[in-house]
Amino acid sequence: MRQSEPLSDEDLRIIADQLGRAPRGLVAVAWRSPCGCPGVIATEPRLPGGSPFPTFYYLTDPRAVVGCSRLEADGVMASMTARLGQDEELAAAHRRAHESYLADRRAHGEVPELEGISAGGMPRRVKCLHALLAHALAAGPGVNPLGDETLELLGPFWDEPCPRHGAPAGEAAS
Ligand SMILES: [Zn+2]
Repeated sequence: MRQSEPLSDEDLRIIADQLGRAPRGLVAVAWRSPCGCPGVIATEPRLPGGSPFPTFYYLTDPRAVVGCSRLEADGVMASMTARLGQDEELAAAHRRAHESYLADRRAHGEVPELEGISAGGMPRRVKCLHALLAHALAAGPGVNPLGDETLELLGPFWDEPCPRHGAPAGEAAS
C-alpha cells in the first residue's frame, strides 16, 4: 500500500455505509477518491475473533463496485483468463502481482491458513475484478496489470457523483 493514513470517525461512517455494516479488522484506507472518500480498505489477515481473511485490499467505492460488476457481467474475466493462458508475459506479471499482494498482507501478520492464497483468482486465473482493481488502486500503476486494465476499462469512475459529496468539485449540482 502506498499510503496508510489515520482513520477518522468520518471515514468509519462512510465505510460502514459502503459496506452496509461496521468494518471489522480495519487496518487503513488504502486508496481514496479525489473527494476524500475511502475507496479501498485494507483489512487484517486475521479478523478479531480469529477468522482468516484473504482479501487484504477490499474495494468499497460504490461507483467502482458497480462498474466492476458490469464488466464481470460482460464477460471480461473469461477473456482475461483466456489471455493468461496465451500470453506468457502477462501470466508472469499476474503471478508477480500475486506475490506482491501476499507480501503486503504478510506485513500485517502471518496467517498459515492463507499461505499462498491471495485474491481475485491470482495467480493463475481472474475470478474477481473488484479484488484486482482494489489491489491496483492501492499499489499504484504497474503492480497489478489486469487491475490496471480494469481501471482503464472503467475510466475515471470518481468523476461520477459521490454518494457522500455529490457532484465532483467544479461541477454545479443540477
Ligand atoms: Zn466522496
